[in-house]
Amino acid sequence: ALTGHKGWKPAWRDPEPKSHYDIVIIGGGGHGLATAHYLSKVFGQQNVAVIEKGWIGGGNVGRNTTIIRSNYLLDGNEPFYEFSLKLWEGLEQDLNYNAMVSQRGIMNLIHSDAQRDAFIRRGNAMRLNGADAELLDESQIRAEYPFLNFNDARFPIKGGLAQRRGGTVRHDAVAWGYARSADSHGVDIIQNCEVTGFRIENGKCLGVETSKGFIGATKVGCAVAGSSGRLMAKANMRLPIESHVLQAFVSEGLKPVLPGVITFGAGHFYVSQSDKGGLVFGGDIDGYNSYAQRGNLPVVEDVCEGGMAIMPMIGRARLLRMWGGIMDMSMDGSPIIDRTHIDGLYFNGGWCYGGFKATPASGYAYAHLLAKDEPHETATAYRFNRFETGHMIDEKGMGNQPN
Ligand code: FAD
Repeated sequence: ALTGHKGWKPAWRDPEPKSHYDIVIIGGGGHGLATAHYLSKVFGQQNVAVIEKGWIGGGNVGRNTTIIRSNYLLDGNEPFYEFSLKLWEGLEQDLNYNAMVSQRGIMNLIHSDAQRDAFIRRGNAMRLNGADAELLDESQIRAEYPFLNFNDARFPIKGGLAQRRGGTVRHDAVAWGYARSADSHGVDIIQNCEVTGFRIENGKCLGVETSKGFIGATKVGCAVAGSSGRLMAKANMRLPIESHVLQAFVSEGLKPVLPGVITFGAGHFYVSQSDKGGLVFGGDIDGYNSYAQRGNLPVVEDVCEGGMAIMPMIGRARLLRMWGGIMDMSMDGSPIIDRTHIDGLYFNGGWCYGGFKATPASGYAYAHLLAKDEPHETATAYRFNRFETGHMIDEKGMGNQPN
C-alpha cells in the first residue's frame, strides 16, 4: 500500500492456546470459522478456539470456484441451502466485510425433454421452499448467451433452469471476514497447530492432542472437510465418506463476456467469470480416492473437452493456472452435522463439491448444535443414523454437481 504497510493492525490476533476452552473447533476453513462467528456473535459463547493445522483459508474455502446457489430438489436439502443463500444476502452487513457477494445468476442448461421435465420438478420444489427458479426456453438462452454451441449433435441446448439469486462470492474473503468477526468476539484462532489425536476417557472427549500440546475442551467440533476420514480415524470412527480431488482452472483475464454462471451437467463443465476477468471453470472429480491437493492430467483434458463442446470460443483463451482440493464425498451426496457416539465430540462434513455455498448455514447450524445440543431446524436430516436406517438424502445430481 502507499503507506508501505506501516502501522497496519492484523485483522485477527495470533494467540497462544489456553489450557481449556468451552468449545474447540478443529479446522479453520469456511465452516469452522463460520461456526466460530455464529457461536460467539449469535449464541453468546465467549470461550471458543479454532485450531487450524496450516493457515486459515488454505483449504477448500480458498480453492473452490466460488459459486453459491440453492437449487436443490429434496426436502432435507432445499430449506437448508435456501437458508444459506439468505445468510449470504446479508453476510457483508453482518461481518462488515466486503466479500464481493455477487448475485449474477446461475443457469443449468437443458439438453433433452426428459431433462426439462426433471428441471421443472426441481424448479417447482425450489419455489415451494421459497427460493426463486425460472424456466427459460432456447430463444431466451440464445439472447443471454449467444456464443454457446446450440447445435452440438449430442447435447443441443433446449433451454435452461435459472436461479437469478445464485452467483459468486470472493471465497478467501469469506474466510477472512468470518475470522475477523470471530476474533473480535473473543474467539482464539490458532494457526499452524495440527490436531494429532483426541483424549477420550470413559466415552467422553476431554480435549485434543495437538502439535502445540494438549488443549482441553468441554465440546470438540470437527470441521475439516477433505481431511474428515483421517481426523475421525483418530477417534476410531469410520465415516460414510470418501476423499477425492476436485480440480479448478482459471484463464487469462478477458473483457466481460459471461454475465453469470453456466453449468453444462451433461458434459461435466461449468464456468463463470471472475471480477478480474479470468474464466473460472471446472468439471468432474479425479478418478480415484486421494488426499493429495493436486490433480491428474486426464481430468484436465476431460474438462477442457467439456468447455470446447459447449463454449467453443474458450479454445482461444490461454489457461493461466489450475489447482486441486480434497473433497469429502458422502455416500448420498448430502452432508452430516451431528453429535457422534462419543460424548462431547461433534462432526460436520460430507460436503462433496458443494460446501462453499453451504458455509453460512453450516456454520449457523453447527453453532446451534454445539451451543444447544439440538439440531437447527434446517439441518434435522443431516444425521449419521440415516446411513443405518436407509433414509438417504440421495441428491447426488445436485449435491455432487461440481460447483
Ligand atoms: P476447508 O477450507 O478445506 O477447511 C478445512 C480445514 O481443516 C483446512 O484448512 C485444513 O487445513 C484443516 N485441517 C485438516 N486437518 C486438520 C487437523 N488435523 N488439525 C487442524 N486442522 C486441520 N463448493 C461450492 O459450493 N461452490 C463451488 O463453486 C465449489 N467449487 C469447488 C471447486 C474446487 C476445486 C474445490 C476443491 C471445492 C469446491 N467446492 C465448491 C467445495 C467447497 O470448497 C468445500 O465443500 C468447502 O470449502 C469445505 O468446507 P471448508 O471451507 O470448511 O473446508
